[in-house]
Amino acid sequence: MQVRFDQAADRLGLDPNLFGILRSCEREITISIPVVMDDGSVSVFEGYRVQHSTARGPAKGGIRFAKNVNRDEVRALAAWMTWKCAVVNVPFGGGKGGVVCDPFKMSRAELERLTRRYVAGIMDLLGPDRDVPAPDMGTDGQIMSWIMDTYSMHSKGYTPAIVTGKPIGLGGSLGRIEATGRGVMLCTREALKHLDMDATKCTAAIQGAGNVGLISALQLATLGVKIVAISDVHGGLYNAKGLDLEGIREFLMRNRKLEGFDGGDRISNAEILELPVDILVPAATENVITSRNVGNIQARIITEGANGPCTANADKILDEKGVFVIPDILANAGGVTVSYFEWVQDRIGLFWPQKEVEERMEHIMVDAFAAVVDMARKWEVSNRIAAYMLGVNRVAEITRMRGIYA
Ligand code: NAD
Repeated sequence: MQVRFDQAADRLGLDPNLFGILRSCEREITISIPVVMDDGSVSVFEGYRVQHSTARGPAKGGIRFAKNVNRDEVRALAAWMTWKCAVVNVPFGGGKGGVVCDPFKMSRAELERLTRRYVAGIMDLLGPDRDVPAPDMGTDGQIMSWIMDTYSMHSKGYTPAIVTGKPIGLGGSLGRIEATGRGVMLCTREALKHLDMDATKCTAAIQGAGNVGLISALQLATLGVKIVAISDVHGGLYNAKGLDLEGIREFLMRNRKLEGFDGGDRISNAEILELPVDILVPAATENVITSRNVGNIQARIITEGANGPCTANADKILDEKGVFVIPDILANAGGVTVSYFEWVQDRIGLFWPQKEVEERMEHIMVDAFAAVVDMARKWEVSNRIAAYMLGVNRVAEITRMRGIYA
């Protein structure tokens, strides 16, 4: 994150005073969270909440429950959210939270006690005008519901706008579940138009079959793109004639893994990245395209569904090869865009039909794509650096306007 921020700031000729402000996090807290476990013992977990920037609006970003989460990672993820919200021009800053725990080894009751105690510990930072969390790795709609309830209990009022990613009945937005995959499709559609490529003659490979990967695959198929490969953590499936995506969706619902679905040949997660396809969507995890395998990438377009799938070293080679990369802070920003709609709907108490959510989101994604491509052309930089330049510049402008309170 910092390598790319530095490159963007350098190209922008960012005022060194603003550089110093934007490179650091505004506020962060580390707490210890004692939890009574089901067997009566007490475990103490470490939790963080970091607000990188509230210049353009309340801090916005998910809460990660994971064994290996640490404060530096949360800081980087918080800054990432600042640039992402600025690229799609939604009025939020960036934040992120984390608790070091293994959610898969804890019972629902333990997770509930952990979540509520964590919220109580970071309560002073939160608020619909201050900091609005969301789900991330290891957290889900149920955890968001407990966050909303705990905050509402303390603030003595019904406050759904404190958190997004909630179930629909609790003030969640229609279209949120599909939002990130739909954003991946919209960006890819715009890229195909930009490159004068016909979607119906294109093939795609998708790494990851979770929320982002599977929905991206289904959405791309609506454009007429032939999806020839998809994978999960255990490996992938390849079928040159095109995969049966509805069959895969049902199979995954029943079995929770792709293995055993007999509509294609088994391939590895390394092989899926190197297939001769037009479109590659890494939508699983970070650092999968590196200086080691980038030479073998054959796709013309890479749409980054996951956060950080390409390393900074791989970027340079992708540029040289002329691969059209749609960077994560643009490509997967459909999720935060619909989170913004959720927050708006909760605040006005009026809920939009799915069509309205989709139309508004499409405008935002198409405008953001055009702004990034325009920036890349004018400044002769990669799409990634252009996206950072766009985001950093928007935050810098507002910071300059607000001035430095002394
Ligand atoms: P998910 O847990 O629903 O799905 C992840 C998928 O990736 C699963 O199929 C899993 O088996 C697979 N996977 C996990 N580790 C892997 C590995 N090492 N190699 C190959 N496959 C692996 O998660 P998700 O919500 O789809 O998120 C995927 C990525 O997208 C993450 O980087 C996340 O930060 C990012 N993202 C998600 C959203 C969102 O709205 N869900 C928004 C923005 C960015």
